[in-house]
This record gives sequence, structure tokens and C-alpha cells, in this order.
Amino acid sequence: MTFSRRKFLTGATVGGASLALDANTNSLAANPALSVFASPLHAPLLDVKRGEKLITILHTNDVHSQIDPLPANDKNAGKGGVARRATLVKRIRAENPNTLLVDAGDAFQGTPYFNLYRGEVEYKAMSAIGYDTVTLGNHDFDNGIDALASAMKFANFDFVSTNYDVRGTSIEQRVKPYVVRELSGVRVGLFGLGINLAGLNAPETFKGLKYLDPVRMARGVVKLLRERENCAMVICMSHMGYYPEPKPGEFGDTQLVAQVDGIDFIASGHTHTFMERPVFARQPSGKDTVIFQVGKSGIYVGRVDFTVRGQRVTAHAGRLLDLRHDTLV
Ligand SMILES: [Zn+2]
Repeated sequence: MTFSRRKFLTGATVGGASLALDANTNSLAANPALSVFASPLHAPLLDVKRGEKLITILHTNDVHSQIDPLPANDKNAGKGGVARRATLVKRIRAENPNTLLVDAGDAFQGTPYFNLYRGEVEYKAMSAIGYDTVTLGNHDFDNGIDALASAMKFANFDFVSTNYDVRGTSIEQRVKPYVVRELSGVRVGLFGLGINLAGLNAPETFKGLKYLDPVRMARGVVKLLRERENCAMVICMSHMGYYPEPKPGEFGDTQLVAQVDGIDFIASGHTHTFMERPVFARQPSGKDTVIFQVGKSGIYVGRVDFTVRGQRVTAHAGRLLDLRHDTLV
């Protein structure tokens, strides 16, 4: 599988023309004259050639219990909210049924909904919107692992964590090391990576959970997904954070990719990084992994489209979807 930077096109194709990435930058070229924002919010980002399948990955992170649009006193007042997100996801799925919706953790903590209902509202809303797979953030443990297990009763989606060993805990039955989804014959492997909770959370909130080395676990699960599960694409939901210029002790998605081959895309979380478009990180093999993180509070949804031919990704393109769009009211 090759990830050529030049092949990563920005936004939608406009009039049959696409914008190639400027090879000198580590992000996608933007040309306001061909703004993708002129195209409908649910439009596919790639042309699909004969024999190819279009796979769409939608993702959020660090929604932090933001059920309603942002309040008037916030600089993003009026943006976001679960109702708009539901409308957007529904339209995209109507356009491309081969769509997965994932979340990179910290669905909890930030509004009175969490204080009052302890995660029930967040997981019910995410179930209604149609999330497929979700990984866990540190704040998802804020009321303790047993309260998390209780909230999980309201979730109809899969939880994945590859480097949290939850055997013997109350979430053991709900958290899988990985899942595989098959979309029109394309097998997509999804796994999750979490941050070390020691030092972030009180020890009693994650009692019994063992933290495993993310690099070792990622290498193992990618090999398993590629070789045994025959996946054409491998997607990671990461709550490890995005640190393009890490300070001592910071180890996030970029640093992981530098040691792990074979991840096509990381839906990133934890650092509340507002990226305007996806970025790349270089794998040991020289190929690129796409990383996208969409800030926090459900203000945006990220979208990355892939075309797949057989077992090979042929092109990919990403776009930030703004949840203040007029058409989503
Ligand atoms: Zn976090």
C-alpha cells in the first residue's frame, strides 16, 4: 500500500480537477479559488474509478459531553450539537453507505449532562447518531471504571482498546482489542490506543486496568489485521495526543507512527488540536499515515475518503466538516 503525498488530494474534486498536495509542506495545499466549501457538505471527496470502492471515515474526538450547540458565551457559540451531527452523518451515509463513524475518546466530562446522568446521555446520543467504534479517553474514567461500565449499557456501538488490558474489570465484556468491518467487500480493521492513566486519573478510577506499551501492541494488532484478518485498510482511534514538536515525555501519534508500519489513518484525540486538514506522519517504511484531529466539543466532524482497489488503497482525501453549516439547522 502506498501513500504518496502527492496523491493525497485536498477536498472534493472540483470540475474534475483535484488539488495535489504541495510536496514541500506537511499538510494539504489549500486554494481558496477552488474551495471545497462550495460543494455540498455531504459530497464525496474522490472520484471513484471502475473497480474501486469508496470508503468514508467520519470521526470526532473529545466531545466532552457537548450535547447542545456551544453556548452564547463561547467563541464557537452556536456551533456543533448532536442534532446537527446526526443530520450530517445521515446525509453522508445516504450518499455513501460504505461509511464508518468513529470517536477517539473523552466523550465524557464538560457539561452538566455528565454530572447529572453519568454518561447515559452521551452514549445514547452516540448510539442514535450511529457510531461504529469508539475508543476510551482518560475522562471516560472520571467516575470510575464501574460507572463507565454502567454507562456502556446505553451504547450500541463497539468499544476498542488495544493497549488497555481490561481483563478482570467490569468493562471486560464491552471492550475489544480490535474489530473488523466489511464494507462492500473491503475489510477495514479498527483498533484503539489509550494514554497512560497513571498520573492523569486517580488510581481508584481505573482499578484493575493494565496499561500496555502502545508501540508493541500497535505493531502486533496491525500484523494480525493485515495478515490474519485480511484487512485492506487499518484505522486507529488514538487518545494518545498529537505532538508535532514533542517536549520530553510527550509521546503521541506522530511518535507512534515513526515506529509502526501499516496504519492508514489515525483518528486522533486528547490534545484538543484543531487541524484545518489532515496531516501526515512518516512510517519506518517511508510510507505515510494520515492523522486528523478535530479539536473538541463536537464543533467539527473530520472526514477522510479512501478509494480501494482489491487490497490496495489507491487515493485518499480529507476535509473538515463544520457543524455550523446553514443546511444542517
Ligand atoms: Zn483526554
